[in-house]
Amino acid sequence: MERTEISSLGEFGLIHHLTKNIELKNVSSIVGVGDDAAVIDHFGKQTVVTTDLLIEGVHFDLIYTPLKHLGYKSVVVNLSDVYAMNAIPTQITVSIGFSNRFSLEALDEFYEGVYAACEAYGVDLVGGDTSSSQKGFIISVTAIGEAEPDKLVKRSTAKPGDLLCCSGDLGGAYIGLLFLEREKKVFLESPQALPDLEGEKYVIGRLLRPEARKDIIEFFEEKQILPTAMMDISDGLSSEILHICKQSNLGCVLYEEKIPIAEDTRNAAYKFEIDPTACALSGGEDYELLFTLHPSEYEKLTLNEQISPIGYMTEPELGAHIFTKGGARHKLTAQGWNAFNR
Ligand code: ADP
Ligand code: MG
Repeated sequence: MERTEISSLGEFGLIHHLTKNIELKNVSSIVGVGDDAAVIDHFGKQTVVTTDLLIEGVHFDLIYTPLKHLGYKSVVVNLSDVYAMNAIPTQITVSIGFSNRFSLEALDEFYEGVYAACEAYGVDLVGGDTSSSQKGFIISVTAIGEAEPDKLVKRSTAKPGDLLCCSGDLGGAYIGLLFLEREKKVFLESPQALPDLEGEKYVIGRLLRPEARKDIIEFFEEKQILPTAMMDISDGLSSEILHICKQSNLGCVLYEEKIPIAEDTRNAAYKFEIDPTACALSGGEDYELLFTLHPSEYEKLTLNEQISPIGYMTEPELGAHIFTKGGARHKLTAQGWNAFNR
């Protein structure tokens, strides 16, 4: 494979190379790449800003993460945070630091993923920063979005009696990680061994190429549903539910049997002899939405099979609990895992 040293382009040559094909698609993107700062006009709407830092060896492992997927995911995890405010993402900035281990071809692959996500979600890349690093790959993405002031949804505004719901299915990304870590070990011990990932496409895809739930936010808009509180599920269901409880000063009841878990995730969990529910509660990186809703909205929810009611909010004195399939009641902890060892 061809290898072009980045030093042969220089910093400005590299930035030009990475950004030369950008065509701004949002009317709110007034000035994009090329000046001292981007200019954004949301025409009376409120602006949402969120940022994430990803460091090689801490947040991702290039042994099993294709650079194109990494570019896509770096963008998607930020868009997920914007959607979690019930806002529409409009712009991103992407900043990268890389050692001389990285060639121009490698950065091109990464940006292919970045631009694929921009295309899929309708956002403009309007800036960033480029630097060398002593070791490894460092990525920082900032996403900017817009919402009507009365449509923004925070974590702190759930009410007692509200339904607790989530989108999609949970626990898959964590099992995907377990598989890839296992195969990495096998590979490091005997590099000629072929990876044994057949049948685990679903969970590996959940980890390496997640999607943000744009469709759910569009469904809310279409059906005029306004969640009372919302956040995205990046650290495991139990930890996120406890955030909503704490910030809204409420308790809750969660039903294990209602937690959506894909058949592929379930089967994969059994291969590792771990409880699929524990993966949903304490695994991470699912990038689904967790939200609360006034119970009068229940009928509208049944129109979307991508949404599962999983419990309800209570007065704070009652605390946060999960009812297991066996009917037992446990206190919900951020380490749902330990409380749940069966
Ligand atoms: P400054 O010296 O003001 O930091 P730069 O020379 O770093 O400016 O950047 C020039 C322009 O290129 C700016 O518009 C900046 O936002 C953009 N830019 C720099 N690096 C990247 C990148 N990795 N991806 C996208 N845009 C970038
Ligand atoms: Mg700069």
